[in-house]
Amino acid sequence: MSAGAAYRLGEFHSFEGGGRKFLYVVPAGAIFEIDSDAAAVVGELAGKRATREELVAGLMQRDFAYNDAAELIDELAQVRAIVPVHAETEPLEPPPPDFPMQSLVMNLTNQCNLSCQYCYEFGEDKVATPDGKPKFMDIETAKGSVNFLLENSSGRRAVHITFFGGETLMNFPLLKRVVTYANARAAAKSRSIDFSLTTNATLLTPAIIEFLSENRIGVTVSMDGPPDLHNKLRVFANGRGSYDVIEPRVKALIHGHRTRPITARVTLTNGVTDVVRIYRHLKDDLGFHEVGFAPVTTSPDRLYAINEPGMNGVLEQFHILAGEYLEYALRGEMHGFTNVSDTIAELYQGVNKSHPCGAGLGLMGVGPSGDIAPCHRFVDSDTHAMGNIATGVDRAKQTDFLQRGHINNKYECHTCWARPLCAGGCHHEAFVRYGDTGHPNLHYCDWIRDWTDTCLRIFGTISAENPEFLEKFAERKAL
Ligand code: SF4
Ligand code: SF4
Repeated sequence: MSAGAAYRLGEFHSFEGGGRKFLYVVPAGAIFEIDSDAAAVVGELAGKRATREELVAGLMQRDFAYNDAAELIDELAQVRAIVPVHAETEPLEPPPPDFPMQSLVMNLTNQCNLSCQYCYEFGEDKVATPDGKPKFMDIETAKGSVNFLLENSSGRRAVHITFFGGETLMNFPLLKRVVTYANARAAAKSRSIDFSLTTNATLLTPAIIEFLSENRIGVTVSMDGPPDLHNKLRVFANGRGSYDVIEPRVKALIHGHRTRPITARVTLTNGVTDVVRIYRHLKDDLGFHEVGFAPVTTSPDRLYAINEPGMNGVLEQFHILAGEYLEYALRGEMHGFTNVSDTIAELYQGVNKSHPCGAGLGLMGVGPSGDIAPCHRFVDSDTHAMGNIATGVDRAKQTDFLQRGHINNKYECHTCWARPLCAGGCHHEAFVRYGDTGHPNLHYCDWIRDWTDTCLRIFGTISAENPEFLEKFAERKAL
């Protein structure tokens, strides 16, 4: 750039952590620590423009040698903290049409033995249209699904299968056969498959637990906290709460499954927002290794929907656990609050998303009928089907889904600094709320930005005060 051309500030979110200043540079999705001199340059440019020489001169007044000042300006330009006045934000490239799959979610059944009132599969907001389709996946469809994953993931040595339902364990005999088949198929190609499943835990038995442990199958249990909270909505068809049935099974699982951490996944709903109490119960009383929370995905007029004050209360409680997470990290210990660790993992990797998640891209769902969906939440939905494992991916439908969900097409997000991580939010939630999978989830932007800022400050503080933790963290998460 010529000496006389003018600079302005780039697009970033500034934050502090551990007494240091950082910039989260949005177009790069990257974090940079800045010292007081760089901060002075940034401050100098706030709301203004200045030439390189003017910026250099300003630094020289702070006792900088000319060459050092010029170098600092160039460094700031290189990380895009400052940019030429007429620089335009480069749109993110669309992913290539043959983007290799990483994960397949296999909905082994669309049947469930619970009737959780908020369920996106059976509740009032369901998108599935299962009538006339098989209720349980058969072995041929399952084998076809495994083959489909292996064929569509070329270039990846390791891929992942998640077993899902309905209630996954209602089709446990098939799950066992799939593990055997998939391992053999992968080994024949010198590749590997990693497995996980999500369950409501009602059907866990010692034999199932032993199988899951022996085969290193990761387990996530859907559970909403202590009995008074869990039993509000996680009920059997007759209305009876499921806590008493699952509690001994969950304890046996945590005790008996020795090869992978066991995670609880909590759905927050109106009246079930006591995040800290839920965390303590699941982590400390029951012994889950990790606990993650997600507000229910639903239309705002449902009785179990969380209103804005409720979401603010959730955020306050998230902050309490986030503070604890930081204390643990500074002592070099892992904390089990996955809402922080998932974001820290993304920040560590410098993700800059074109889409909010892998749905329809590296991730696909397949239902008992063999229909392919963008993810497990769209399985069995005729509207969202993207082909069948017998005939392959319907590329036109996939392209349409991915184009609509691409950040470039979410205009409201283009000025948002949280977009490298959020990218508009869950496609399924967007469909439920706005009737379009490509619509940004604008109902929670302030919430997302607050939470992202919290995680950035945690990340900054850890990197300033205990950077070894981040290395250990990355190693443990295989980042
Ligand atoms: S949905 Fe909201 S928070 Fe997310 S990227 Fe778009 S504007 Fe930002
Ligand atoms: S669309 Fe939503 S539910 Fe599906 S994988 Fe993405 S974030 Fe998850």
